[in-house]
Amino acid sequence: MRYCIVGAGFSGAIMARALAEAGHKVLLLDERPHVAGNCHTSRDGETGVMVHRFGPHIFHTADERAWTYINRFGVMKPYVNRVKAQSQGRIYSLPINLMTINQFFGTTLRPDEARQFIAARADQSITAPQSFEEQALSMIGPELYRAFFHGYTKKQWGVSPTELPASILNRLPVRFNYDDNYFSHPWQGMPQDGYTAIIENILKAEGIELRLGQSFETVDERFAHVFYTGPIDRYFSYSLGRLGYRTLDFEAFVADGDYQGTAVMNYCDETVPYTRITEHKHFAPWEQDRFTRTVCFREYSRQAGADDVPYYPIRQVGEKALLTRYIERARATPGVSFMGRLGTYRYLDMDVTISEALAASDRVLDIARQGGVI
Ligand code: UDP
Repeated sequence: MRYCIVGAGFSGAIMARALAEAGHKVLLLDERPHVAGNCHTSRDGETGVMVHRFGPHIFHTADERAWTYINRFGVMKPYVNRVKAQSQGRIYSLPINLMTINQFFGTTLRPDEARQFIAARADQSITAPQSFEEQALSMIGPELYRAFFHGYTKKQWGVSPTELPASILNRLPVRFNYDDNYFSHPWQGMPQDGYTAIIENILKAEGIELRLGQSFETVDERFAHVFYTGPIDRYFSYSLGRLGYRTLDFEAFVADGDYQGTAVMNYCDETVPYTRITEHKHFAPWEQDRFTRTVCFREYSRQAGADDVPYYPIRQVGEKALLTRYIERARATPGVSFMGRLGTYRYLDMDVTISEALAASDRVLDIARQGGVI
């Protein structure tokens, strides 16, 4: 019997490749008409620009295995994510660094001075921050929090930052030097030919049948095991209720030349309805000068409805309790493993998805070699 993998994103593709290389037969399904899930990239027909169809994905990692793996299937070009932000009519650099602090407060502080200056503004009475807001106030104080985080976070997540976990803010550093690299990981890059080409290359292995445009629910075949990377609640027909997601709407527009001079411009004020504008040719700096026109996305975030593409797991208290019940159901379901962002309902960066899929495929192949049940 062959294996079935549901979903042709990184998790599914990596598992399919590992099984195929070990001599197994695999049916890989994806109901969308393309591989690569939300990392899907394709060239815009009008301008030729490589477009991240479901929003920008920048690869960064501290895991050498994930970095080596992605480099095996495509050329990764050097790329450093440097984000700009508009707040209260001015442009700043993100993540918050010495340039941001000095421009915002009109100061000329050096690193140690800035550290003291921000410490004096931070709310020292919050010793164990519980929410996003408490975490921000205890780290950077009210002025920077209001300017860069309060409005943006409300737009992004649709709830007050007092109701969000502190962990969301921990994704971003605060730097007391002029390093404006958005990420702190040692490896960072962009695939020369886009993410879709990387996934297609991973899937070039004998023994993998790829079927696009077909959902798992419509397949009538028995499998040795199913690796399911779709939404965990959907697998159980939402019988316990729906897990909440944020979805994104992109308002695409084409302009002449260079629209905003950079790849990502965040709009931190609550009065602006979108969270950011991304300009896709700047995600490929090695080829950006080739294009006389440019493709931009205005990005809006909202609660996902039943037919919307799920992006960000919300993971508030209610969802976490529901997730626990679905995980119990999943553990009690023999013959199926749940993987990836949707299968485990966690907000995973691409590198973590790759690392976890590689670790999972190691375990699966070990078990298969010993003739055991996965
Ligand atoms: N954030 C913000 N203002 C910004 C950028 C980020 O308030 O200009 C907040 C927002 O809540 C976001 C979180 O910081 O979800 C983490 O930022 P990151 O860039 O990692 O966002 P993501 O990758 O989740 O879009």
